[in-house]
Amino acid sequence: MPKKKGMECVCGEIAKESHTNIEGYKVRSWKCKKCGEEYIDSSDAEFVLLASKTRKNPIKARVGVLGESYIIRIPKEIAEIMHIAKGKVAKITLAGPNDILITVES
Ligand SMILES: [Zn+2]
Repeated sequence: MPKKKGMECVCGEIAKESHTNIEGYKVRSWKCKKCGEEYIDSSDAEFVLLASKTRKNPIKARVGVLGESYIIRIPKEIAEIMHIAKGKVAKITLAGPNDILITVES
C-alpha cells in the first residue's frame, strides 16, 4: 500500500494520516481536523472484517499428508488479504497444546 500523507476531505481540507482502533486492530486512517471526518484505509478495513469473521467462525481446514509432511491449505481469501505468495517465509510456533501460530513475512 503506498503511503499517503494527506487525503482531501469532503469539506476541502486535507485530512492528516492517523491511526485508529477497530475491534482491537490498529488500522490506518486519515482524520480531518476541520470537520472531524475520518477515512479508514480500505485494505485495513477489509482485513479487520475478515479477522473478525474468522475469530467468530474460524475457517475449518482438514489436515492432509504430502510425502512425510502434514499439510493444511490456506484459504485463498486469507492468502490474498495477507499478501501471502509462493516463496514467502512462514514461521511456525507452537502456541498451545492445540494451537499453531503461523507468521508469514510481509
Ligand atoms: Zn473535513
